[in-house]
Amino acid sequence: MTQKDLPFQVDYTDKVVVITGAGGVLCSKMAEAFALCHAKVALLDLHLEAAEAKAQEIINEGGIAKGYAANVLQKDSLEAVHQQILKDFGKCDILINGAGGNSPKATTTDEFYADKLSEDTITFFDLKTEGFQFVFDLNILGTLLPSQVFAVDMIGREGCSILNISSMNAFTPLTKIPAYSAAKAGVSNFTQWLATHFAKINIRVNAIAPGFFSTKQNEKLLWNPDGTPTARTEKILNNTPMGRFGTADELLGSVLFLSSPEAAGFITGIILPIDGGFSAYSGV
Ligand code: NAD
Repeated sequence: MTQKDLPFQVDYTDKVVVITGAGGVLCSKMAEAFALCHAKVALLDLHLEAAEAKAQEIINEGGIAKGYAANVLQKDSLEAVHQQILKDFGKCDILINGAGGNSPKATTTDEFYADKLSEDTITFFDLKTEGFQFVFDLNILGTLLPSQVFAVDMIGREGCSILNISSMNAFTPLTKIPAYSAAKAGVSNFTQWLATHFAKINIRVNAIAPGFFSTKQNEKLLWNPDGTPTARTEKILNNTPMGRFGTADELLGSVLFLSSPEAAGFITGIILPIDGGFSAYSGV
């Protein structure tokens, strides 16, 4: 990606942008975009290699970036990384809470309840407590803890903000993924709560709600092992008026806009759908 590929120019010179889940498909693109806008980008991920590889790509293109190993579920890990970022880049201006996802242990095989016909079928009654716990923790605590650690830097400073990643399933739950749907509804709700809580100290908190993007975390639901689309993919595309998956690039305009104090200075507590019309369409 080059400067020309950005939807518009935003100047983030001297701003420190911390992105969790930055080794992943969607957030690595966000890291690139902020770097092209001259931010200093801290890429945090459970998988250090992924974060470092993307940081190196950014540096090779002339940007400022560094990869850090961090677990968004462990406050100690985040605090250690926070201290390192303070030394490397300075105080965090913009936090993107990108780490999140679902688990097969919290996913039913079928959309509608039916008698269990084989051992491979996961009914509502087979869903694992630990699957739900994992998904709630990753999405909700994984948004709360980095916010607690990095928003400390934002107090008493101008132009700071937090951007959370919600999902379409937060508005209306998607079949098969009850934990992920409930967890993202929690992320949207928490976004509004924190936006209100921080409003008087001028830290804006918003979320984007991506529709359907084909990435690592949902590939098993969307594609058969032979690469053909699953029935779920057909259904998604039929219910997305624009008739296609989104691309990671198509999130960038919203991310750069909502993070910009000049462009979005009076916007806080919103959950912005980026979904090709999915949430506007009743299916009829
Ligand atoms: P991804 O799996 O490509 O990226 C997620 C990244 O988070 C991975 O690099 C992973 O290593 C990291 N991660 C996982 N657990 C972590 C932890 N405990 N600590 C630190 N990092 C951790 O997924 P993606 O599709 O790029 O998703 C990014 C965000 O967007 C997620 O919050 C996801 O729920 C959300 N989202 C995705 C879609 C979609 O269609 N892909 C739609 C709506 C919302």
